[in-house]
Amino acid sequence: MVKVGVLGLQGAVREHVKALQESGAEAFVIKRVEQLDDIDGLVLPGGESTTMRRLMDLYGFMDALKDFAEQGKPIFGTCAGMILLASDIEGQDDAHLKLIDMKVARNAFGRQVDSFEVDLPVKGVGNDFNAVFIRAPYVISVGEETEVLATYNDNIVAVQQGTFLAAAFHPELTEDYRMHEYFVDMVKTIKEDTCQFL
Ligand code: GLN
Repeated sequence: MVKVGVLGLQGAVREHVKALQESGAEAFVIKRVEQLDDIDGLVLPGGESTTMRRLMDLYGFMDALKDFAEQGKPIFGTCAGMILLASDIEGQDDAHLKLIDMKVARNAFGRQVDSFEVDLPVKGVGNDFNAVFIRAPYVISVGEETEVLATYNDNIVAVQQGTFLAAAFHPELTEDYRMHEYFVDMVKTIKEDTCQFL
């Protein structure tokens, strides 16, 4: 079974652990950088990206996660996690991990529609994925290497760039585990490929 961690500094951690278990992975809450050595993939959950970044700096996760990514291990960011993965954030001079070539806007759906749910087609996942948006970002633009997996009202809300996956919505808040299954499959495939060369 592949081992997938959920960064457990802040945010919707437990829900992701459950969704990963339901998707056939062994799931772990990651609170220390050393734990990254024991896992094959990682979820960056939703929450508050600025708070999460502060805690990531405090516990030394910025360099450790860049290393993790360089080893080819997959990362899946949801909502605040998507913001952490972006190479650019609208209105900010600097971004965080910069692992996906895309520009995101925070809280992009505005106050009137603070939270909402909608069934969306998500490429490779399904035609009717129940997407829950909570003070969600969306993606304004993507680089050439970034594949768009889902849009809502012409706004990009899910993307993949190689081993990195991101969604503006919260797939951990429903019992539809197809998005987590998609990620667990990515982790499995990459682990098998890497093992062949060891
Ligand atoms: N608005 C939050 C942020 O900017 C993200 C919201 C969420 O993760 N539900 O980090």
